[in-house]
Amino acid sequence: MTSLDNDNVPPDSATQAAINFGVDDIDLPRCRICRSVAHLRFAGHPGYVLGTTYDIYECVGCDASFASPLQADDRIYEHIYQHAAAISGYDRYDRYATMVRQVRNPRTWLANREDVYYAIDAMVRRIELAHPRLVEIGAGLGYLTYALAHSGCTIEGWDISQSAVQKAIDRFGPHYRVRDVFAPAGADAQRFDVIIMTELIEHVADPAGFLAAASRFLAPGGSFLLTTPNKSFFEQRLIWHTDPPPVHLWWLAERSLAKLGERLSMNVHFFDFSKYNDWHRPNPDMGVSTSSAPTRGAMLNEDGAPLSIAPPPEPWRLFPLSQSLVPAVAGCVRSAARSLGANVDRRPSTRRRPTCAFSLVPA
Ligand SMILES: [Zn+2]
Repeated sequence: MTSLDNDNVPPDSATQAAINFGVDDIDLPRCRICRSVAHLRFAGHPGYVLGTTYDIYECVGCDASFASPLQADDRIYEHIYQHAAAISGYDRYDRYATMVRQVRNPRTWLANREDVYYAIDAMVRRIELAHPRLVEIGAGLGYLTYALAHSGCTIEGWDISQSAVQKAIDRFGPHYRVRDVFAPAGADAQRFDVIIMTELIEHVADPAGFLAAASRFLAPGGSFLLTTPNKSFFEQRLIWHTDPPPVHLWWLAERSLAKLGERLSMNVHFFDFSKYNDWHRPNPDMGVSTSSAPTRGAMLNEDGAPLSIAPPPEPWRLFPLSQSLVPAVAGCVRSAARSLGANVDRRPSTRRRPTCAFSLVPA
């Protein structure tokens, strides 16, 4: 049935836009976030595993891109975590899990390493005087939960992976539980003031359903702190500049996240990265080609082994002091050069990063 079959319900504006452009919505899938029609953006995009392909659809209502088939494959994470140290993108998580135990202030150390943790640190700082009960869902290797607990937060980490939770307990202590957000909550289930999810919702087939299920664990007035790759940071011509499916199933724009908030009857507040960008100016090119061909390819071979070994980290990235000093010195040099009238970049720092951080608070 199309929305036009029902005489009583006019098509939503996005569907009307598709019809106006001559798009036949009979066979088009609907966006699971805003329920508008989505059109095929690219057929046969390379998947995470060599030889697999996915079609990429783009929602006309909220700009979200999603993969088809829209189905997670949990087996792939066994391969990824088995080879995490060798897989580009996951190698740094493995390093963080080792390093946070060796530094004096793991929370600040993480915040200095990556925009995701910078934003979470700042957003938690705004609320922690109220002593909120926190939970990190999708805690993975457990280092963020550990870093927040180490700084005095009351927090536990949940993951659906028994092996991930066991590893986290072995490394960091008993802050972790195997927990599936879709499992029955129970009347006596613990509720939390804040649910943290970093780089998680892009992995699930139904982000709105996942957040709705997770919201059962929110205390009255509770909120979410989330991060996900930000499609709005990049140019429209890019098809899918994020991990190939089925690892990432969604590439979400800020409009998609606003729609997610509407579905949950919550308000969205985007984190402003301007200050961070003063010292860590994002490069919008990010090594991306100028063509409209796929910019991401397979990461694992058919047997689940990494296709290319992640490069070893630059030595200065291993040391927290240099991590904060290098951009600080670069920023000072830029400011000094600017005050001397040199021809340096005068653009104001953008609030966006390749990652979007945001909170969902009760409307
Ligand atoms: Zn949509």
